[in-house]
Amino acid sequence: MKLKDKISIVTGGARGIGAKICEELLKEGATVYIFDVNDKEGKEAAGRLQSAYGNGRAYFFNVDITDENEVKKTIDEIVKVQGRIDILVNNAGITIDNLIMRMNLADWKKVIEVNLTGAFICSKHVVKNMIKKRSGKIINISSIVGVHGNAGQCNYSASKAGIIGFTKSLAKEVASRNIMVNAVAPGYIQTEMTHKLDENVRRKLMSLIPAGKLGSVDDVAKAVLFLAGEDSDYITGIVLNVDGGMGI
Ligand code: NDP
Repeated sequence: MKLKDKISIVTGGARGIGAKICEELLKEGATVYIFDVNDKEGKEAAGRLQSAYGNGRAYFFNVDITDENEVKKTIDEIVKVQGRIDILVNNAGITIDNLIMRMNLADWKKVIEVNLTGAFICSKHVVKNMIKKRSGKIINISSIVGVHGNAGQCNYSASKAGIIGFTKSLAKEVASRNIMVNAVAPGYIQTEMTHKLDENVRRKLMSLIPAGKLGSVDDVAKAVLFLAGEDSDYITGIVLNVDGGMGI
């Protein structure tokens, strides 16, 4: 087991990519704390994971990552019980798409707040403990859209490009304390979001992916696992594309 006894936090772990990341971390021996605002799916996910991996291994906290007091209080509680946090996966993210002329300021701010500010808040309060322990892994989920842009997603792509800049700056700041900070940039992944695509859009997308298929949550979770474990101990500040070659 590559992550035996490691303590991890996965934001947005109630469903989708985050839920798969939780499962992969648990399989490798880590204990997982889910921070998510989706109470129903968060409780269900934690229950499912506890049945599969043991009661003391998976927990759900209804935490809004944009609320600094709530995040700090919950991280302090975990550190009090566990003594440390080894891995943080900043995965929670939302989309509120529109063309710029129709995009409200509120929808711009909301997406930046959750996708970028949320990652800043969680990282800030976890890094304090990681610096003390001289060890840690932070993995930020960006997107191919943060690298290449996408019409109708100015707010989302700005937040995901911001995540890349944030990752590189924080990596430089804390590398000397043995804290490695990396990003994963998924392409189009089979989730509820992409299930809704109509056949024409799906066909057009396929033609842009050299691998000829959408990615799976498994593909993303495996990349996160690599960056969370000791196989990547000398890697920091990178953006690992998981996109079937779409970004080439
Ligand atoms: P989902 O929408 O399936 O899951 C995201 C989870 O985060 C939900 O449970 C959501 O709750 C929760 N969440 C939303 N806002 C907050 C908040 N403020 N605090 C805590 N939790 C919150 O997303 P995906 O699994 O599809 O995506 C996961 C990550 O991967 C995101 O960062 C996304 O941008 C990125 N990504 C996804 C791709 C894809 O194809 N799916 C491609 C590229 C990147 P609720 O359900 O209540 O909203």
